[in-house]
Amino acid sequence: MSDQLTKYLFADRSVRLQTVELDTAWQAMQQGHDYPPAIGRLLGELVAASLLLSANLKFDGTLALQLQGDGDARLIVVECRSNLDVRATVKLREDAVVADDAGLQALVNPGGTGRFTVVLDPQHRQPSQVPYQGIVPLVGETVAEVLEHYMASSEQLQTRLWLAADLERSTGLLLQRLPNDGGKEKTAEDDPDETWNRTLHLAETLKREEMLENAAPTLVHRLFWQEELTAFEPMPARFHCPCSREKVANVLRVLGQPEVEEILAESGEVKVKCDYCLTAYRFDPVDCAEVFASNDPVSVRHKSGNTH
Ligand SMILES: [Zn+2]
Repeated sequence: MSDQLTKYLFADRSVRLQTVELDTAWQAMQQGHDYPPAIGRLLGELVAASLLLSANLKFDGTLALQLQGDGDARLIVVECRSNLDVRATVKLREDAVVADDAGLQALVNPGGTGRFTVVLDPQHRQPSQVPYQGIVPLVGETVAEVLEHYMASSEQLQTRLWLAADLERSTGLLLQRLPNDGGKEKTAEDDPDETWNRTLHLAETLKREEMLENAAPTLVHRLFWQEELTAFEPMPARFHCPCSREKVANVLRVLGQPEVEEILAESGEVKVKCDYCLTAYRFDPVDCAEVFASNDPVSVRHKSGNTH
């Protein structure tokens, strides 16, 4: 089984482990985009990270990882919902020639002005409510390093990430030290650092190739076979894009009738392609007239807030 996320807890409840592995869902996410291998690796790692972080939050809504780059990758967005629906897109610079071995810094931050943002958008956000945005300093050579840095500076829980992706598979492992022992009775010999140090030491032997070649349960067994681990029911993850014709119609309403008329005059129709799933939505003059005939400013404002 893959396309799933699994949570584990070590026996003394001081450390949490999560694994994620996608293949079908990850391949579907890339379909039609034809990402160069280096972009696929970077995006796959971000997708795995978004699932691990999303599953780790007590939050109902959408977690988005957004990278605005000054290199070949101009914009990378991964969105993951609490139910582990995930979608992703990359906008490359038009003249981009992506080297096969290009890493995070070379792809998004060669000029030093790249920006990495974490956005938390609650499921039932009021129109007046602004989603939470955290700026992630682009410190580190890998997605895992950058996010570990960010988490170390933004929350108390010590967290480590291992991420690996290619065009076939997107995988990740998260190790997190929990704030207390979960109510378990302590004995005099209990050392609060012991489990964390031991599990960290074991996980640090993990290699990228191993993660790409083995199923997550196999890896967990190999690393932690001497540990007493409680595994929770795996949670399915899937590629799902919530775009719809109705949402595109709302975008056209926000754009305004004069603008839409102009496009119609030039091209005879309005064509909008979803950046994520590449579904093409076409609106001919009759469709556009309908869009504006049913114009209701209140519902437009409400709905457009949920477009992405
Ligand atoms: Zn879509």
